[in-house]
Formats: sequence, structure tokens, C-alpha cells
Amino acid sequence: MDFKNLTIAEIKKILEKTDLEDFYHHYFEFLKEEDKKIKGFLFFTEKLVFETIKELKNRDRNLPLWGVPIAIKDNILVKGERCTAGSKILENYIAPYDATVIEKLKMAGAVIVGKTNLDEFAMGSSTENSAFFPTVNPFDPQKVPGGSSGGSAALVGAGLVPIALGSDTGGSIRQPAGFCGIYGLKPTYSAVSRYGLIAMASSLDQIGPLAKNLDDLILVFRIIRGQDEKDSTSQNYLEKNKKIKIVGVPEEVFALGLDEEVKNVFESFLEKIEEKFEIKKISLPSLPYALPTYYLIMTAEVSSNLARYDGIRYGFSFKTDNLLEKYLNSRELGFGPEVKRRILLGTFVLSHGYYEAYYLKALKVRQFIFQDFQKAFQEVDLILMPTSPTPAFKLGEKITDPLSMYLADIFTVPINLAYLPALAFNIGFSQNLPIGAQIVGNLFEEEILFQFLKEFNYQ
Ligand code: GLN
Repeated sequence: MDFKNLTIAEIKKILEKTDLEDFYHHYFEFLKEEDKKIKGFLFFTEKLVFETIKELKNRDRNLPLWGVPIAIKDNILVKGERCTAGSKILENYIAPYDATVIEKLKMAGAVIVGKTNLDEFAMGSSTENSAFFPTVNPFDPQKVPGGSSGGSAALVGAGLVPIALGSDTGGSIRQPAGFCGIYGLKPTYSAVSRYGLIAMASSLDQIGPLAKNLDDLILVFRIIRGQDEKDSTSQNYLEKNKKIKIVGVPEEVFALGLDEEVKNVFESFLEKIEEKFEIKKISLPSLPYALPTYYLIMTAEVSSNLARYDGIRYGFSFKTDNLLEKYLNSRELGFGPEVKRRILLGTFVLSHGYYEAYYLKALKVRQFIFQDFQKAFQEVDLILMPTSPTPAFKLGEKITDPLSMYLADIFTVPINLAYLPALAFNIGFSQNLPIGAQIVGNLFEEEILFQFLKEFNYQ
């Protein structure tokens, strides 16, 4: 059996004629062998798989994901399994319950095959901040897969799983999707429940799907979305529809250090879609301020969210009778350098005397960014932007220079700040590396993003 690049529909077809246990027995051999090259999985959830398929035999075969394998970013809780968030501090933490998205996927018949690698606590753009090992790009093992959902993106890109979940706080689904040549959806803030997602920055975090096939991504998004009483920020999902005529391209994008290779591929893509839609240059004047705004708001929220890892309640605990020593050493030994950097920055941003100058000001700029997008949506139906200024970069290239790593997020963070949905997809290749773009809609316009790609017949 050839398991590579199977879509959900193809898997379901195979399962009509194949025993589930047989399928998974061989599939695991394949996964384990192939993942040696990619290193996308932190660990497999084999025991859970064989328990799940036993139950599935008594369930309705027409469930939308009956028997379909799915990989989950390791900051989303799966009951009874480890959930490390890519950090030493949670290395041996066992999830006591299922995240709501996991509950929904299990209800739909999905089989969770493993937890995927990520930058520690989802902080990073290359998966090199994982406390365990880096994942590599399926197109070139010398290159990063992007991050922080790099494990999920690389596994889908390599064709090992049809679908994976990731989380996106400032680009962590879209940037790796772009680097790995696949689809990645960052849903509208509040469209998908975050109950059971290990929080990074709560006013920005969203869970979303990554897939090689657009229909698969749409199917999984429709399963996981919707209001959840366990996440008070989640909302009832109201599907929106409209005819797409005008697609806006922000002129600021070209002034923000867009790499020549990406620019060329992006411009020829614009020429292609011009046959179908009117392309309009628009201005989002606040776009250049998005990155600094994000790094103030996100670090402030990180410092407060990560205060709970005190060596007492979760995971790693430094052994000593002295309480202060326990706090200090658990955090000192448990967190990696990027996480510490952000906790320190965030604590500074929120401290007395700086709160107004940094945090409050950033909240105000966030409002401008939101309004700029809202104004733009009065002129255009959707907005198209690259996902990142460069193709996938070399492992090690940016890891010692945090600022250059942060610049990888320049086109993705504005979308999170404005609460909007955006779908990343492949628009071509440059020197054998995929180039991604993102189509951005107004709040709750995910279905219109799907329609855009379908109208364009871009499968
Ligand atoms: N790369 C960005 C960062 O490091 C985004 C992370 C994310 O979306 N989780 O903050």
C-alpha cells in the first residue's frame, strides 16, 4: 500500500476494502520510517490509535472522518497523552482532558496518530526553538519548515498525514504552510474553541487546520468551528457569503523588505488571477507598525500566561525544600532562551511606569490596524498578501539573531492583531522551494476565502 500524499477521500476509499487494524499496522510502519527524514513528530500515540479503532468498528462508517489519521500540534491537549508544548518544563505532563477541538475530531471519527513538533510554547518561526530537536523542510532538509507549527506543516507537506492541527498567534500556521507548500487556515479570532490549547497570547491565539488538499482543510474546519461554553471568547459561527469581485493588494507589502524571489512569484500570481478578479492596490498605513505592536502585546500576554509554570502545578519541578529556590530553578532549567526573553520583555512592558508607554499604546495601535483593514474591506472584497518576505531559510541561519527571526512574521502578525481569518496557500516555487501567499477576509468570512480558491480553480 502506498500511503504517501493520500487525501481524506482516498483514505476513506481504501478503508472500504481494508481492515482498520491492518491499515494502521502498515501505516505506522510507513509513518515511523518516513518521519526519520522529517522529524515532524515529537511522539506517536499508538496505544490511543489501537483503542480508537476498536471503538470505531462499532461506530457509523459514514462519520465524516471515520478512520482518518490526523496529527496534532503538541500544544493541544489529548486526554491521557503527554502534552509538552515543545518545552522541558512540560516534558512529562499528561493531559487530563481533551481539548474541545479534539473532542470534536474524535466525535467525527478521526484517529489521532501523534503529536507534532513546535517551537517552545509556540514561540518562534522555524521550530528550532523546540526543546527536543528541530524538524526539517520536506523540500530541502537543510532548510527550516517554518514555525511554530513546523512539525504539522512538514508532515502534511511530506504527504505523511492528510491533515494536521496547528495554532496561530502571529503566523504559526500560515508561515510554515507557505514554507511547506500546503494550505493553512488561521480562523477568525473566536471561531474555534481554544479550550485545551496551551495559551501563548490569549488575545491572538487560534487553532486551525493544515492540509495538502483544500477540500480536506474545509471539512476539518467545519468540524472544529463553533461556540463552546468552555471558551468564553468563542462565538457561534455565522457563515457569510458574497460575490468576490475585487481583490486588494496592500502597497506597503512591497516596501517592507520583500525578497526578490518572493516578489517575482507573487507578481506573476497576481497576473494570473487578474483574468478572474479585479486587482486593486490599497493602502494599510498602519501595516509597518504591526510587528512592534505584536511584540509588545504578545510578550505582555506571554509573561502573564506563563506565570502558571511555577514548578508546583504542572510538569517539571526542581527538587528542594526551599520554595523560592523551587520557583527560580524550575523556571530557570525548564524554559529555553526564547521563552525567557519573551517573559522578561513582557514583564517589562507591563511594569509600573512603562505600562502606559508600551502596553497601552500598543493596544491603541492595534485598534488602528483593525480599522485600516475595516476601511480596506469597504473598497475590496478580499486582501492578498505574501505569507513571509523570504522562502524557507537555512537551519541555524536566524537562530542567533532574534530580530531577523521576528521579521519572518511581518506579513502574518497584522492579521492576528485585526482578529481576521486568512488562508495560506502555495503560489509557486523559487529554486525548488515553495512560496506562499495568504488570502485575507473580513471577520467570519472563511467560506469566502475557500470560494476564492475554488473560483480560481486552484486545487
Ligand atoms: N512566529 C511568531 C512568534 O514567534 C508567531 C508564533 C505563533 O503564531 N505561535 O511569535
